[in-house]
Amino acid sequence: MPFLKGFQFDNSYARELEGLYVKWGGQKVADPSIVQLNDELALELGLNPQFLKSKDGAQFLVGRELPESSISLAQAYAGHQFGGFAPSLGDGRALLIGEIIDTHKNRRDVYLKGSGRTPFSRGGDGNAAIGPVLREYLVSEAMHAMGVPTTRALAAITTGNKVRRDGLEPGAVLTRVASSHLRVGTFQYFAARKEDEKVKRLADYAIARHYPELANTDNKYLGLLQAVIDRQCALVAKWVSLGFVHGVMNTDNTTISGETIDYGPCAFMDYYDPQACYSSIDRYGRYCYSNQPLALQWNLARFAETILPLIDEEDKGNSYRLAGDEMDKIKPQYEAYWLAEMSVKLGLPLTQSSDKSLIENLFKILEDEKVDFTQLFRRLADVLRSDKKPVKALFIDQTKIDSWLVEWIERLKGQDLHVIAEKMNTINPAYIPRNHLVEAAVQAATKELDFEPFEQLLNVVTNPFEQREQWHRFEQPAPPSFGQYTTFCGT
Ligand code: AMP
Ligand code: MG
Repeated sequence: MPFLKGFQFDNSYARELEGLYVKWGGQKVADPSIVQLNDELALELGLNPQFLKSKDGAQFLVGRELPESSISLAQAYAGHQFGGFAPSLGDGRALLIGEIIDTHKNRRDVYLKGSGRTPFSRGGDGNAAIGPVLREYLVSEAMHAMGVPTTRALAAITTGNKVRRDGLEPGAVLTRVASSHLRVGTFQYFAARKEDEKVKRLADYAIARHYPELANTDNKYLGLLQAVIDRQCALVAKWVSLGFVHGVMNTDNTTISGETIDYGPCAFMDYYDPQACYSSIDRYGRYCYSNQPLALQWNLARFAETILPLIDEEDKGNSYRLAGDEMDKIKPQYEAYWLAEMSVKLGLPLTQSSDKSLIENLFKILEDEKVDFTQLFRRLADVLRSDKKPVKALFIDQTKIDSWLVEWIERLKGQDLHVIAEKMNTINPAYIPRNHLVEAAVQAATKELDFEPFEQLLNVVTNPFEQREQWHRFEQPAPPSFGQYTTFCGT
């Protein structure tokens, strides 16, 4: 395999964090076949898309034929799942095969999901089915196109193996790329075992990899806590600004890098509903749309606990005080990000103190009227081009939105409204991966091996701001016949 021979993976995780993983290989696959390859991302990684699309490339992407420089491993991690602590989760169906320094000089993990059983598999089969793999591919790439920090999808490959889910389904591997797979749960794994030295090594590694500017500061571990809080607040505010419900905000799915990870049960809401909750196992709405900032706050407190011993190694009381101060700042910090996100969505110049109530008033009207969240912001831009009709058509009772529009336009007084409208349309997507479209695309691929709807939808949602006449149907919410949407974890 001439291409792989010279290919250089780096393996900083394997090299520097011994004891935090198990070396492991991918399972045998019957007949790997590329279903989707992300050419642009491959090039960014310095990989040759032509090679990746070949038979040898497919063997590489499922982890069977790896270059000598690869050290493939399963990472250890723990996690609070819906509030309950699981001390040993880890990569039960995934492998890190190495790191690549990309063309922008960023270190990226190349990671396989669905690559077979590992010592962390517990009762699981180590597999992934094609449906959830395509779903993650689609939604993570849509998120990236909308400017949300996220893991990326490099490839979806069917393995030729069958996996048992509802019935027998085609098995698949998702080759995923991330700035790292360090999670709050990674820290928890060792903190729970009182392995302080490993927590410290992990914290130093996380700082070097994600926050190198902290390395020589007075209290780099407190700095790490602040940095993770900051990135995660920014991330969740971005989700909320797009009507995204992650659905499984467990601490093993909360990254140290601030990237979105784990697209199992996520969904975008159509009409605005603060209680929106889709996951079949989230029975009490712990991770519903409007609870996401609270869940984040809780997860960040769990992270703080893991590094408490590092913050002030001599004075435990001081560690608690310092970390406690940071906990108190999370809510205002999140709210500042939320306000900034919502302000730009509405084209508001430099946020004023009265903007919060302007935004909240709008959301109250949306909630009462069950208005489509994504369409609303695009149609508000039309108002600035003197066309109020499209936005008003979204409301049954138009009196409240009429008076809100007057207030909003007043707030924009003195600005060039056409310029603002243009700007809003570069921030507010016309196309999101709507649940009914995702389901239809995934079903067609899974049941009929028809990948056309998937490719078409992928093309639309990765160009979310360019409204096109022929894509009209992709803007529409689900028809009533679609009913209540339910999502599932880890399938
Ligand atoms: P997830 O729901 O994908 O975040 O997974 C939570 C935990 O369950 C992780 O430790 C996974 O590795 C593990 N897991 C999920 N699905 C499987 C599976 N099919 N086989 C083995 N482990 C799994
Ligand atoms: Mg997960």
